[in-house]
Amino acid sequence: MSSQSISGTCLCTATSLSISTTASPSLVFICHCRDCQRLAGGTCQVVAVFNTPDITISKTPDAFKTYTIPGSSTHSGHDKAKVACERCGCTLYTIPMKWGGEKMVIRISLFDGGFERWKPTQEWFVKRRPAWLEAIDGAKQFDEVGGVGM
Ligand SMILES: [Zn+2]
Ligand SMILES: [Zn+2]
Repeated sequence: MSSQSISGTCLCTATSLSISTTASPSLVFICHCRDCQRLAGGTCQVVAVFNTPDITISKTPDAFKTYTIPGSSTHSGHDKAKVACERCGCTLYTIPMKWGGEKMVIRISLFDGGFERWKPTQEWFVKRRPAWLEAIDGAKQFDEVGGVGM
């Protein structure tokens, strides 16, 4: 019995991620907060929340760089580790310490076919969404953080 996997990489391919097709994210959302806008180089980040054990990561040595946003400046009040590829600077995922490292919030842009596979069901920080960008049809809208429900 083999389960297929969905894989993705950073820009330079020094890091790669894979997820079994049997593991589904507990939430797919987009976030327009200022941190996400800065990190994405765009209006938002499009991310999916997975259980950490469901994610397989491979990387060339020293390819990771972690920046931890201190809890004093996060919305949740918990530290958030932002992991990027050291070589190409691509943002990969976030580990919110709110869940003690058990959840990973992964940029679905990294996965081949990610945007076709997963559609956001929530939009966060819509107060920061630019006026020229429309809401996602059918996604729940939140002024700030939405409901992760876990
Ligand atoms: Zn890279
Ligand atoms: Zn955000």
